[in-house]
Amino acid sequence: MNEPAGTTGLVFNEPLLWEKGAPGRCGVSLPQRDVPASPLDSALTGDAPDFPDLSEIDVIRHFTRLSQWNFGVDSGMYPLGSCTMKYNPKTNERQAALAGFCGAHPLMPESLAQGVLKIMFELQQYLAEITGMHAVTLQPAAGSQGELTGMMLFAAYHRSQGAPRKKIIIPDSAHGTNPASAALCGFKPVAVKSDENGLLSPQAVKAVMDTDTAGIMITNPNTLGLFEEHIRQVADIVHAKGGLVYGDGANMNAIMGIVDMAQTGFDAMHLNLHKTFSTPHGGGGPGSGPVCVTRALEPFLPVPRVLEAGGRYTLSDDFPQSIGKLHAFYGNFGILIRAYSYIRSMGAANLKKASQLAVLNANYIKERLKGTYHLAYDRPCMHECVFSDKYQEAHHVTTLDIAKRLMEYGFHPPTIYFPLVVHGAIMIEPTETECRQDIDRFIEAMQAIAREAEESPELLHAAPRIPKVRRLDETLAARKPCLAG
Ligand SMILES: *Cc1c(COP(=O)(O)O)cnc(C)c1O
Repeated sequence: MNEPAGTTGLVFNEPLLWEKGAPGRCGVSLPQRDVPASPLDSALTGDAPDFPDLSEIDVIRHFTRLSQWNFGVDSGMYPLGSCTMKYNPKTNERQAALAGFCGAHPLMPESLAQGVLKIMFELQQYLAEITGMHAVTLQPAAGSQGELTGMMLFAAYHRSQGAPRKKIIIPDSAHGTNPASAALCGFKPVAVKSDENGLLSPQAVKAVMDTDTAGIMITNPNTLGLFEEHIRQVADIVHAKGGLVYGDGANMNAIMGIVDMAQTGFDAMHLNLHKTFSTPHGGGGPGSGPVCVTRALEPFLPVPRVLEAGGRYTLSDDFPQSIGKLHAFYGNFGILIRAYSYIRSMGAANLKKASQLAVLNANYIKERLKGTYHLAYDRPCMHECVFSDKYQEAHHVTTLDIAKRLMEYGFHPPTIYFPLVVHGAIMIEPTETECRQDIDRFIEAMQAIAREAEESPELLHAAPRIPKVRRLDETLAARKPCLAG
């Protein structure tokens, strides 16, 4: 049996807590007070917030029901391209929850914090080894903050050379955070067009690179899931004019232990621990975007930095050229523990194998779906592949319809309408943690949807009918969020 998971069963409606309670209900039973009431009481009951009166079971059912509305990587395949929504082994959660880690206070004296400092130090070394870079900061709280850190490092470097520069080159396939980070740091982003293969062209970079350009930001593999084959040549062009190369490492899941990023010409790059290194992400939860740099950029890294001498670990602010602090204390420490635990439990050989499997799975999907959906660039891909709705257009079926119908087959939709360089993009990233059977089910669901697009497009136009909510006005939801119900 190889049916898609589908969706069925019982999903409860759930009102707001304010609509549920009844005066006098209570979730605790404390003994009667045997001391006089304190003035605090009137402060709390007078103009206190309008909290509903609820019993314990009211609260438990409320939150349990809400949790069942959620779809996560623990419930099913989540092929959201550019996000690496892979399964995060639970052991890494357990390690992060150990009392010594989650109770560690950031102001503990160094003598009592040797264990946590050691973990941070070793994690920096592991990330340096995995990327081929020289030094690492663990401070940034996200990939995008890593990008900003990188831009600040570039600005500090050029200032130290006595020649500040104004522009940053960014390919048109880049994630939106790339130009935003450059602009936030005061640089003017300069776009370059991808070539007919979806790759960065050395000629196009050469045409815009000048001595007022601080550097280039490159995502490799890029957001089309393609390896930038001319990366070294592009880096040489930028370096020849005194510029630096920043690597957006969000797609590291394709190349762990396979590509030495320093050798490809990167001067700085970030990793998204919440994508590649086993932290669940989405919903705005904490993330981590360590930045790895070459020896030349090390003096500018944020402070404090973890140092080791003779087996003792210390934190040092003594780096006069540092760009300063990016985050309170040392970044999102709990995320660092998960990454450390993931790297240690996988080991070098398995990290490499994870990337190989991620690439194999994406190529398998690409090959099996390429006659059914239009493949934007028909060449070997890395960890994700990008289709479009070009073949379905004739039946007035769009990428959005396909994505919504997929929910009725029990799958989270892929990334849609990104990257912008592909009209009607459907970007699929299966990751290494999906087995062959689940990937086959996904492929069969996509094939069934393509047949429906021809035979009964109304099914797609009406989708999704089964999930809790149907088509939302996403623009309105983003512009005017209604958070109070
Ligand atoms: C996710 C992503 C980012 C941004 O990373 P955050 O951690 O979400 O800030 C940047 N570039 C690419 C290619 C990405 O996929």
